[in-house]
Amino acid sequence: MIAKKIRDFLPEADLLSYCTAILRVYNLYGRRDNKYKARIKILVHETGVEEITRQVEAEWQQLKDADLKLPEADIRAIDAYFAPPALVERPEGDEAVKLARLDSKSFSEWLDQNVVTHRHPDYAAVTISLKGIGEAPGDASDSQMEAVADLAEKYAFDELRVSHEQNLILPHVARADLKAVYDALVDIGLATANSNLISDIISCPGLDYCALATARSIPVAQEISLRFASLERQREIGELKLKISGCINACGHHHVGHIGILGVEKKGAELYQVTLGGSADENTSVGEIIGRGFSSAEITDAIEQIVETYLGLRLDRNEKFIDAYRRVGPAPFKEALYAGEAKAA
Ligand code: SF4
Repeated sequence: MIAKKIRDFLPEADLLSYCTAILRVYNLYGRRDNKYKARIKILVHETGVEEITRQVEAEWQQLKDADLKLPEADIRAIDAYFAPPALVERPEGDEAVKLARLDSKSFSEWLDQNVVTHRHPDYAAVTISLKGIGEAPGDASDSQMEAVADLAEKYAFDELRVSHEQNLILPHVARADLKAVYDALVDIGLATANSNLISDIISCPGLDYCALATARSIPVAQEISLRFASLERQREIGELKLKISGCINACGHHHVGHIGILGVEKKGAELYQVTLGGSADENTSVGEIIGRGFSSAEITDAIEQIVETYLGLRLDRNEKFIDAYRRVGPAPFKEALYAGEAKAA
C-alpha cells in the first residue's frame, strides 16, 4: 500500500507528541482480531485517511503541550550531530574534470552515471556501485570496505553513507578530487558505472541466506546482470529500476521496481512473478502483476523481452521505461510475453 499523508508540516518540537498520538489511535482501533490485519496500513485503509487524520489530531490536542514537547536545547543538540562539513572553495575542479574527461572515456562514463551535483558547485556526491557485473548485489569484501573507508577519510570529510539501493555514497567530494577517487575505485574493482541502470539491481538475500525465502534471488540478479553486461546497451536502455525479493515480505522492494521480480514457490518449484510499473520516487506507484510466473530458466529471457518491448515502443531515448509503461500500460508487454501461449491454447 502507498502511505497517505496526514499532515503537511509539523514543528520539530511536536514530533514526539504527534507520533504518540498516532500510536494511541492505532492502539485503540487497530485490528487485534486478526494478526495479519494488525497493521497500521490496514487501519488507515479501512478507516479512511480523513477520519484517521481527525482522530490523530483530536488525540494530539490532549498531548501537544505536555511532557513530550521537545526542548529547543535538545533539538539543537541533535542538529549538531548532522552539521554539514566545513567545505572549502576548490574552484580548480571544473578544469580538472574537463581534462580528465578528455583523457579517459571510462572516467567520463562513470562521471555521467555515478556522480551527481552537490549544493556547493565545487563538490559532488559519488555513488560507489556495489553491483559489479555478475556479482551478488550489495556485496563488498573486507579489503574493499577498508579501502572505501580510507577514501571517505581522505576525500569525503570522513563521511560514508549506505543507500537503500545497496550502494555506498561519498556525499561530499571536491570535483578536483573526482579523478583520484575514480582511479582508487578502479584499483579495488568498485568503479562500475551503472548507477540507476538495469544492472543496478536491488536484490534481497533470498533462499541462499534467508530462512523465510520461497525462492532464490541472488542468482537471478547475477544472471540478469550478465545478460545486460554491456554498458553501452545499458545506457541505451536508460534509467531502469529492477528489484528482486525472494518472498512476499518484499525486502528487495520488488513492488516498487519499474520491473519487479517476486520469487514464489509452487508445488515445490521456484517461480518468479513479474510486476511492472512500480516506482518509489515522488510519483509512487505499486507495480502490476502481468501474468503467470516464470521458472528460473525462463526469467532472464522474460526480462529481456520486456526490455526489448520497451525499446520498440518508446517515443524516443528521453522516454524512460517507467514513463513509457505509464503511457501504454501492460498490454504490449503481456502480448510480447504470453501471446504465443494464448495462441497455442
Ligand atoms: S524478501 Fe523474503 S526472502 Fe528476501 S530477505 Fe526478505 S524475508 Fe528473506
